[in-house]
Amino acid sequence: MITVDEARARLFELAALMPVEEVPLVQAAGRVLARDVAARRDQPPFAASSMDGYAVKSAEVERDAMFKLIGEAAAGRRFTGQVGAGQAVRIFTGAPMPEGADFVVIQENVSQSGDLVTIVNAPGTKDNVRPVGVDFHDGATVQAPRLLRPADIALLAAMNIDRVPVARKPVVALISTGDELVMPGEAPGPDQIIASNTFGLKAMLEELGAEARILPIARDTIGSLTTAFGLAEGADLVVTIGGASVGDHDLVGRVAGDLGMDRSFYKVLMRPGKPLMAGRLNGAAMVGLPGNPVSAMVCGRIFLVPMIRAMLGLGAEAPALSQAPLAQGIAANGPREHYMRAQIGADGRITLGGDQDSSLLSVLSASNALIRRPPNDPAHEAGTMVAYLSI
Ligand code: AMP
Ligand code: MG
Repeated sequence: MITVDEARARLFELAALMPVEEVPLVQAAGRVLARDVAARRDQPPFAASSMDGYAVKSAEVERDAMFKLIGEAAAGRRFTGQVGAGQAVRIFTGAPMPEGADFVVIQENVSQSGDLVTIVNAPGTKDNVRPVGVDFHDGATVQAPRLLRPADIALLAAMNIDRVPVARKPVVALISTGDELVMPGEAPGPDQIIASNTFGLKAMLEELGAEARILPIARDTIGSLTTAFGLAEGADLVVTIGGASVGDHDLVGRVAGDLGMDRSFYKVLMRPGKPLMAGRLNGAAMVGLPGNPVSAMVCGRIFLVPMIRAMLGLGAEAPALSQAPLAQGIAANGPREHYMRAQIGADGRITLGGDQDSSLLSVLSASNALIRRPPNDPAHEAGTMVAYLSI
């Protein structure tokens, strides 16, 4: 058996970097910028007023100074004349500064009567002018790789970048296996349960920017599993769920092997999730997850999420851990790295979820953290700092 870190390192070797594709700006949110992009203009493209007020010469700005109003500059409509000595132009936020003016006296500090303008309050020293290119200059770059957030989309728009080079979405085929499974919404027989793992994993991976396809459930027969692998063709990553242990009906390893899978590893020193398997199958990465719902979801978080991030070009890294103090004592850990369902409270302390059985989705759903216990970690008292992963 190999360690969690070793398993993840081998999974990174199987994870192919996605090619670049161009998408319209409106579809770029949540995608990963794959090449640097450069601004196509200065922002602002002209010196602009940042306030509503009066544009004048700074040398003339003082309390009680008087000016003759000679025109108006609004956003989108500049004043085309020249501001001379003793003159002012009415100006609004976002308007280009008129030639000859370099200071905006805010309107609250001015009284206007006809075309006569007087500074009636101390005008201060702030000029209220945004210089050309103060936000960014023509040619300024946004560097790849970068997961594009809403603020980035606004920046790209301001840079006049309407098509964005992003990493293609990795296509993930999700295959549930088991005679006992039916799809949500179907009527289960007396011995059947609902397939849940594929749905949880699809949600997890799509949030990251993958395209996950739920394939029809494979039955516990060689024929059905072979058909399912056939349907997965074209995917970048094929994920099976269940059928990976050593029971009589656990056929995933055998069928994948018959189809030519080059196995990278089988079994990881981890709880939950020991019977994890991975390899390369027809040019795609293949990961066999354990069937128990919590095991599948935890393995998804520990292994598939970093894999998808690597495929998107975001780097081959383990998920980031944080630290929090235990709200109660915990018992010693066994020989496998253990990811325990837990909850970070409003006080910042972390509480273990009641029952750590790997079939309990209700406990996982009520959790917002996984405490990571190293192998053979001793018992700890309340208050001890432990490492955890947000989920
Ligand atoms: P297996 O690894 O196939 O022996 O499955 C282990 C346990 O997980 C069994 O109780 C299965 O019924 C359950 N299981 C397997 N696949 C799924 C799935 N896709 N959704 C929900 N439960 C599953
Ligand atoms: Mg099964």
